[in-house]
Amino acid sequence: MEKVVIIGTGCSGLTAAIYTARANLKPLVLTGTMPGGLLTTTSIVENYPGFPEGIDGYELMVRMQKQAEKFGARVQFGTVEAVDLSKAPFTLSVDGERVEAQTIIIASGASHRHIGLESEALLERKGVTYCATCDGALPMFRKQPLVVVGGGDSACEEATYLTRFASTVYLIHRRDSLRASKVMAERTLVHPNIKPIWNSVVTEILDVKQDKVTGVRVKNIKTNAESFIESAGVFIAIGHVPNTQIFKGQIDLDENGYVVPKRGTETNVPGVFVSGDCSDHVYRQAVTAAGLGCAAAIDAERYLAELKQ
Ligand code: NAP
Repeated sequence: MEKVVIIGTGCSGLTAAIYTARANLKPLVLTGTMPGGLLTTTSIVENYPGFPEGIDGYELMVRMQKQAEKFGARVQFGTVEAVDLSKAPFTLSVDGERVEAQTIIIASGASHRHIGLESEALLERKGVTYCATCDGALPMFRKQPLVVVGGGDSACEEATYLTRFASTVYLIHRRDSLRASKVMAERTLVHPNIKPIWNSVVTEILDVKQDKVTGVRVKNIKTNAESFIESAGVFIAIGHVPNTQIFKGQIDLDENGYVVPKRGTETNVPGVFVSGDCSDHVYRQAVTAAGLGCAAAIDAERYLAELKQ
């Protein structure tokens, strides 16, 4: 039986892994389908303390994993399909295998939110993407007009990154100002190759018949005027949804699916702790996720010590 199973290998899960490994608990750390979490899809992280020049998101996560493994964490590629938290020890089904655990740290993070259009689903990976750093350099996007949807830090970051490849980047946002941090918004709006399209939503991505992206149909929500923007790609950056579906009915979730912690990182189930983006819809930063991962590890360690007594 495992003493600690950590679900997720983003900033939060890997920090929890470093702390529980250093406490000699030999955590089993499960990657899910996105090893390293969302930060691996970011380019330069400029606000993680200790890196005055910034650090590549992927590299930061590789370093965190190495640090955790150095102290004895076992990082395993695997997706948790189901959990039974009704009695201790808890059981998890991981790619069909049964795993038993005395404590669990849920650090399952969040996934990209979809607009919800039929054409969006049909053209995913055929020009519709949720990650500029992963796909922006593909030949199909080079020297082409591209669309970014969203108004937060992610959308600004994606738009700025895409100017390396695109002829023009259209930033389509449903409001008349950006939600992004001041520095990011200013950098985006002064860029000569980024053209904001305000108060607008994408109503259809074309062209499903051609099986590739050729443009978007856009509606101005103030005037109801419709227009067409030619584009070889659509990069969607409209926020995230927490990866908590498997805990529904067992762990207290709020109406948006975020885990509701009780005290510190404790959940409603004693022995199950939570940290990072799957419970934090307020701060959502790499450094806060890491901090919460540390807190969850300390809480799990104390819980195990009390069990022993
Ligand atoms: P976000 O801040 O939640 O912004 C999401 C944006 O998408 C908002 O502008 C929102 O519009 C829009 N949106 C949501 N649903 C939509 C829909 N169905 N259709 C059209 N537009 C929709 O998400 P984020 O940009 O991914 O950022 C998440 C967190 O990560 C934030 O805390 C951010 O600061 C952080 N982050 C930091 C960095 C960095 O510092 N380097 C980089 C990326 C992200 P409204 O404005 O109308 O709500």
